[in-house]
Amino acid sequence: MNNIPFFDYPALYKRFKSEFDKIFEDVCSRGAFILQKDLEEFEFDLADYLGVKYVYGVNDGTNAMVLGLLAHNIEPNDEIIISSHTYIATAAAIRTVGAIPVFADIGSDYLFCAKSAEKKINNKTKALMPTQLNGRCTNMDKIIELANKYNLNIFEDSAQGLGAKFKNKFAGTFGGFGTYSFYPAKVLGCFGDGGAVVTNDKKIAEKIYQMRDHGRNQDGVVVSWGTNARLDNLQAAFLKLKLKNYQEDVTRRREIATIYNNNLKGNKNLYLPQPPSSSSLHFDVYQNYELAAENRDELRSYLFAKGIKTLVQWGGTPVHWLNKLGYDKNKFNDLNHTNWFFDKCLMLPLNMTLTNKEAKIVSDTILEFYEKNK
Ligand SMILES: *Cc1c(COP(=O)(O)O)cnc(C)c1O
Repeated sequence: MNNIPFFDYPALYKRFKSEFDKIFEDVCSRGAFILQKDLEEFEFDLADYLGVKYVYGVNDGTNAMVLGLLAHNIEPNDEIIISSHTYIATAAAIRTVGAIPVFADIGSDYLFCAKSAEKKINNKTKALMPTQLNGRCTNMDKIIELANKYNLNIFEDSAQGLGAKFKNKFAGTFGGFGTYSFYPAKVLGCFGDGGAVVTNDKKIAEKIYQMRDHGRNQDGVVVSWGTNARLDNLQAAFLKLKLKNYQEDVTRRREIATIYNNNLKGNKNLYLPQPPSSSSLHFDVYQNYELAAENRDELRSYLFAKGIKTLVQWGGTPVHWLNKLGYDKNKFNDLNHTNWFFDKCLMLPLNMTLTNKEAKIVSDTILEFYEKNK
């Protein structure tokens, strides 16, 4: 019997255990818990990696978005266009500052569709905010063109997009701000909650710097209203080590995606994500391997019975299906592609502990299911 988990959380620690233990001892012995040099060094390294001017470590990817929105003076009743195929966090961050999330459909790569977004623009619209989902940066040419046409900001929820590129430019670095999450299961995961917000705009950067720590400026003097949204120094120290190995992780993820693609392509029951080598415009890091599959629920049960764990993103619910939040999915018949996708979408295991053999077993078991259910 197989035992292929969707994600192995204890393995995060096991992988570099002795280095992590050393870091823990070092940071704790120094008593360096809040806003210390390890955080500054991690921010410096991440800025260097991304080629961006300002990086601030914050407590999680959701608050990263809240700070970015506040720094841009997004106000009650402003409208921000997002994809409904996103984590509730994107919409929640917009609601937290009083603004209104407006949903665009997904395009052929299952990401924010600029064409659909254009139909939602009105005089309250302030920004386009694509989610750089599953480790892929959407086609930013289309988004920049649309933003320029209507004089809108671009913000990026790049929680799943660290390392992904479009035309050699990193996801999260295109607009007024971009955000990342270091939730443990993210490609760059820490041992708890963590996030970062990045920008190239000095004024925005200064506001975020202050808001993250109770409105204090570089001299520690309170000069504006803020909150506590700091990234723990200890988490930053762990992340600094992990960032050094990041390229290796990305390479491995692309290998696994290639195995899935090679084994599964051509099956008419499956709609696969773009393989790593498919385009010179995109560089994908495969935070997730998300596909659409006919008879998704039966397939999932079949895999489960064979010891293979899969996941349906967001518990199977795009934001506009959340009726407890006041949305009625029947009123969104312009989100056809998203509605279609959520009857079929499925994520296969893709992580640093998955072996090539296991990726082959997962693929073979999927093909076996469709062979049996012809
Ligand atoms: C993980 C995630 C977030 C939020 O990150 P947290 O660090 O958990 O707050 C936001 N958006 C997307 C698309 C995510 O996947």
